[in-house]
Amino acid sequence: MTRPVCVSCCAEMRCHKNSRAVEVQVKGRGYQVWSGDEYQCPSCLVRVVTGWGRQPMAETFMSSYVVIVSEELEAGNLIVLREDAT
Ligand SMILES: [Zn+2]
Repeated sequence: MTRPVCVSCCAEMRCHKNSRAVEVQVKGRGYQVWSGDEYQCPSCLVRVVTGWGRQPMAETFMSSYVVIVSEELEAGNLIVLREDAT
């Protein structure tokens, strides 16, 4: 079994979108962008991102960081993970 399971529905989730970009932010500032696969429960439609690569796509010290974030944002493919959110 490699796919996530929805606890509420006892159902295996299905891959909804490959290569979803997730920017990790602390105090409103991004420092890493990761790529993962987005899965969705076929019953309640809740979605999760999992299946991360071994390394982030980019980190702030890389010159490519701003370009990657801009491209993923324009493509509507970027979500933000606020690590300091409760
Ligand atoms: Zn569900």
